Amino acid sequence: MRLKPLMKVCQGIVGQSRSFGTSPAASQTFRKWYQQLWTTERTNLPPYNHFTQIGDPVLRQQAAVVPKEHLDSPELKAIVERMVKVLRKFDCVGIAAPQIGVSLRIIAMEFKGRIRKELPEAVYQTRQMSELPLTVFINPVLTVTNYTKLKHPEGCMSVRGYSAEVERFEGVKLTGLDQQGNQSELALSGWNARIAQHEMDHLEGKLYTDHMDRSTFACTCWEAVNTKSGRVEIPFYK
Ligand SMILES: [Zn+2]
Repeated sequence: MRLKPLMKVCQGIVGQSRSFGTSPAASQTFRKWYQQLWTTERTNLPPYNHFTQIGDPVLRQQAAVVPKEHLDSPELKAIVERMVKVLRKFDCVGIAAPQIGVSLRIIAMEFKGRIRKELPEAVYQTRQMSELPLTVFINPVLTVTNYTKLKHPEGCMSVRGYSAEVERFEGVKLTGLDQQGNQSELALSGWNARIAQHEMDHLEGKLYTDHMDRSTFACTCWEAVNTKSGRVEIPFYK
């Protein structure tokens, strides 16, 4: 989940494209050559170092439970490590495994203390924000503990460049396994409960755009688009 729908996302971008030869190399058959001109062959396999984007089927399927026999595997450890790496690299507050292309029930959240200094105090208070150390849940289950609904703007790194107001429950409880595979339970309220609900939605193939207040859906850099005469680009890499 993206915390700050700020101008920060509106930076320059370096063009990227795959390049193919324009004629078959001597060692290739004609068929192999013309197939590679349009192939959908995947050359970059998950877990990714970037966020998958809305439209990617991985964001629309129900993520699978991590099987018990793999809880202690180096592969699972690598997925969790990559999630934390990507979470921090893109400076956000929550991530779910499908966002790095892995359809497994894993989420990670972190709300750093320094964020308070970067936001107006009124925003911090109104949104009921508070520090949350890095928290990883494997096969999490969410229970609502406070059904009061709070409506605030939120963004998502998988819907890059946009934000909208979304209603979320004020209090939730997460249960599941921690990074070490131990049973864990955590009560969350306010903004941290919002992060948890947002990330849990990802495990069900849902995005905030499915239940946002559509009238508040906004491009996070619409002002910059005007001031910079449209010369604004949103990077999907970092
Ligand atoms: Zn998200």
